[in-house]
Amino acid sequence: MTVEPGAHAEIEIRGLHKAFGEHEVLRGIDLEVARGEVVCVIGPSGSGKSTLLRCVNLLEEPTAGQVFVGGTEVTDLDVDIDAVRRRIGMVFQQFNLFPHVTVEENLTLPQRRVLRRGKAEAVRVARENLARVGLAEKADAYPAQLSGGQQQRVAIARALAMGPELMLFDEPTSALDPELVGDVLAVMRMLAADGMTMMVVTHEMSFAREVADRVVFMDGGRIVEEGPAEQVVGAPRHERTRHFLTRIL
Ligand code: ADP
Ligand code: MG
Repeated sequence: MTVEPGAHAEIEIRGLHKAFGEHEVLRGIDLEVARGEVVCVIGPSGSGKSTLLRCVNLLEEPTAGQVFVGGTEVTDLDVDIDAVRRRIGMVFQQFNLFPHVTVEENLTLPQRRVLRRGKAEAVRVARENLARVGLAEKADAYPAQLSGGQQQRVAIARALAMGPELMLFDEPTSALDPELVGDVLAVMRMLAADGMTMMVVTHEMSFAREVADRVVFMDGGRIVEEGPAEQVVGAPRHERTRHFLTRIL
């Protein structure tokens, strides 16, 4: 998918570098994600995938380069970081739900605190999004009463309740028992079909093949190859990509 001339990419990353002390973790990343596009990021552990995602919503501060979200430069020193983060939903491997409140309250509290929504509206949006991930009947449960897959779907619903214009997923199914992975991927598939812009770090090659518009293979802090899933996963051009795929498939 290419960006129409004159239209903004939803995410645009230019010459992105990130170092932790002497350790250069991202070594010049250029990447565009069009509105409504689903990009899967694959690559070995330590290749910089999480750091890349975290630079998009400024959980990490880039050492050099620029990141634009919906045409706004988020790496501009004068940017309102909180306003930028409100536009971006993020889902992590560990679901990070608030353990001491109900599922519904997990969805209403951030809306009320961050978006200043009134209680009735926050509850309405919470229920709408719990229904979307198939968990309407769990509104009054506590996180510990849910399976890992259900907790991750709550985490996705919580991010959606904030009305994000794009979603970042960092290995959302890696902490789940294999039999719970499918329901989470089904929710992500539905989001993709609804036109959500998504960057997904994953080892689920069947998901990448079926849902991703584009797959990006990273190694050593660089993009080694990118293209349609059937090409990158099905017929990789680079030896490093082939080597990685033979180890995980
Ligand atoms: P991936 O998600 O592909 O496994 P990461 O982006 O998590 O890779 O990490 C890339 C490298 O950066 C690793 O070597 C990791 O140890 C290092 N790294 C990540 N975060 C930090 C940090 N906050 N401080 C120092 N080093 C870090
Ligand atoms: Mg990671």
